Amino acid sequence: MHLYLMLMLIILFVVAVSYFAKAAVLDFEQRADNDVVRVKTVYSQIIEEKDRLADEKRKLQDEADRIFAMYELTREVTATFDEQEAFQSFKDHLARRLVLEDCRLVEHFPKDIEDFPSFKGYRFFPLRTKKMVLGEIAYKGLSDQDEETFTILAHQFALALRRIRLYNDVENMAITDGLTRMHTRRYLNERFEEEFGRAKLKKAPLSLLMIDVDHFKKVNDQYGHLTGDMVLREVARIIAVQIREIDIAGRYGGEEFCVILPDTDKPGALIVAERIRLAIHEHKIKAYDATLAISVSVGAAAFPEDASQTEELLDKSDWALYRAKKSGRNRVAGFSVYEDRP
Ligand code: GH3
Ligand code: MG
Ligand code: MG
Repeated sequence: MHLYLMLMLIILFVVAVSYFAKAAVLDFEQRADNDVVRVKTVYSQIIEEKDRLADEKRKLQDEADRIFAMYELTREVTATFDEQEAFQSFKDHLARRLVLEDCRLVEHFPKDIEDFPSFKGYRFFPLRTKKMVLGEIAYKGLSDQDEETFTILAHQFALALRRIRLYNDVENMAITDGLTRMHTRRYLNERFEEEFGRAKLKKAPLSLLMIDVDHFKKVNDQYGHLTGDMVLREVARIIAVQIREIDIAGRYGGEEFCVILPDTDKPGALIVAERIRLAIHEHKIKAYDATLAISVSVGAAAFPEDASQTEELLDKSDWALYRAKKSGRNRVAGFSVYEDRP
């Protein structure tokens, strides 16, 4: 009986121990599983974070590349004020960065694509600023993944083109008279010095004409300033028609014009002067509802016959003009002597 009880107690003890041991193992396993899940979660979070950072890095790298490309392009295209040269730099730049079959700078989008077989298969990118379209880039063979880079660089080129146009406009304003579209006095003076130097060096003649509209004040008084302006434009146009390509004509002052005639001696200059005078005299200027008869007086002087310095030549052609006015206007006078100079 005693033995039997002992045995029962031992069995009970073993059962209890194995039960608690199993529970402990289960608990341990559960905790281990939880740890594994936690570690797995942390691990996948780390992987996700790593991917995100890699993605971020790639984006930053792309952005840096883009900024660098824009900086480089700007640096290259701002080295010139010539549109074609700037476009060539732009093209070279594109060729280094992306795949493109062809790319051209065109003034306008072709009105009818069928009329422009040379643009078959091309796409057009308008180069515009806030206010105007400066032109178009016709391009073909651009891969889809390069589209964005191309767009960014083309915008950058549009800015450069705008800058070049502005610069050239300002430059032209300084050398072109707004009313007559002729050269300005400043430009004439520069060219006069240049041409005079060249004539001296080549031992070639050079002549100067001073042209002044006769009684121009009366035109203004009688017909108004707008008509006066129109007359000046017409006179400028006629002078331009009567001279050679190498001659340099400009507006010297209000109603006064000047023509530099390289490689032309005094007799030659007098012939040109007479031709201009006659052409203006014979031309009836239609200004608004009036038809006007206009005349000019012309003074001519020549290097080396009359002067050896620019100021002297200028002064003598001016004096000749004064003589032409004095002797009745609508005529040409060549410098001879400073007779009865006040
Ligand atoms: P002359 O035969 O002696 O040269 O007489 P003129 O009346 O032509 O000469 P004057 O120098 O007395 O007058 C020149 C006039 O030209 C005076 C000025 O108001 C006018 N003028 C100057 N610039 C312009 C311009 O841009 N437009 C107009 N409409 N008139 C101008
Ligand atoms: Mg006058
Ligand atoms: Mg005058």
